[in-house]
Amino acid sequence: MRHSGALSPSKLPSIGTTIFTEMSALAQAHGALNMSQGFPDFDPPHALRQAVTDAMNAGQNQYAPMAGNIALREWIAQDVMTRTGCAYDVQNEITVGAGASSLLFATFQAFVKPGDEVIVLAPAYDLYQPAVELAGGTIRVVPLDPLSYHMDISAISDALRPETRMLVVNVPNNPTGSVWSMEDLEALHQLLKDTDILIVSDEVYGPLQHDGRQAIGLSHHLGLASRGLVAASFGKLLHATGWKIGYLLGPEAIMKEVRKVHQYDVFSTGAPFQAGIASYLQQPAGRDHMATLAEFYQAKRNRLLKGLEGSRWSWQPAEAGYFQVLDYSAFDQRDDRTVTRTWCELGVDHGIALIPLSPFYPTGLPAGHSSQRVRVCFAKNDATLDEGIERLLRISETILT
Ligand code: PMP
Repeated sequence: MRHSGALSPSKLPSIGTTIFTEMSALAQAHGALNMSQGFPDFDPPHALRQAVTDAMNAGQNQYAPMAGNIALREWIAQDVMTRTGCAYDVQNEITVGAGASSLLFATFQAFVKPGDEVIVLAPAYDLYQPAVELAGGTIRVVPLDPLSYHMDISAISDALRPETRMLVVNVPNNPTGSVWSMEDLEALHQLLKDTDILIVSDEVYGPLQHDGRQAIGLSHHLGLASRGLVAASFGKLLHATGWKIGYLLGPEAIMKEVRKVHQYDVFSTGAPFQAGIASYLQQPAGRDHMATLAEFYQAKRNRLLKGLEGSRWSWQPAEAGYFQVLDYSAFDQRDDRTVTRTWCELGVDHGIALIPLSPFYPTGLPAGHSSQRVRVCFAKNDATLDEGIERLLRISETILT
């Protein structure tokens, strides 16, 4: 249908569809193996699906409380206390929303005003920039270290301005899987302690740590936790990204402001999903799931990397999360958007959809950051992983430098 008459400009005239949507559509159009978008190709655990079904059948089908199902908030409070020693009040400091995304959005809407700057560390998840801009702010991009993708405290320090309102960190990082250390937390605390800058820590991949790493997040540092918000997602933890159940942690005074937006935006979400998740997590099956989640994904990362050993792909093993960055500069000099498109177009038998890294840099590629890197999602069945490995090997062998 055509709009009649002149259309007044929207607030995001230059934003198109995301690279994830674009690559998945391309994968579908060419019948390529889709290892691009970040979701598992396997189902959530059976006991969890049963718990959600039971909740539906038990009548949990009307609005959940605005802040979230109380049993779920109690589980969250206990979990974060056990993992980090940080106490969040169940009534006032935990909010459940429609995925982490909705709560991040609410946070930007609640705190960012026209003229404010928000520091974003790149490569960065694509939601932050449009969400900040919709709120009237602008982002200031600070690159992560080009080799380790760890945060560079002195670069963050250089980026601080009187108008800096907020710092967004994403650990483990999407796309690179990089994490932070207790030293990073302390350095950040020292840098920000005399400012009123709010920290928003997107930790949706938090517990998916590899090689025995401890999941270190904002809540491990009381000084930072008391000036920041932590976003998390059951979608990632329970292989259920389509359910869109996430949560936010933060001090009451900050959370109160976020809830002012949340209550008119999402208000409340997925009552049977919340109730089912709460029930499942208290069962032995749920406890086992959480206890073995890190090794489950580490085995998938290892399978992928072992399969690529000895090839012309190169990498640093992801420290956490379910993405692996691969470097193809040894066999193809073209830019990452061109190659990902080309590899998708190889079609049903040989095609593979991956995500180029350059769209994760909202203001372009900074000095020292390679344009020949791609992101692979390894949250896939072993059969998909093995097929993916075969296709990746074929690509690296057929393309001559
Ligand atoms: N943050 C990051 C870094 C993500 O990768 C994602 C999901 N791709 C989200 C937030 C959104 O999480 P949810 O699906 O719970 O909204």
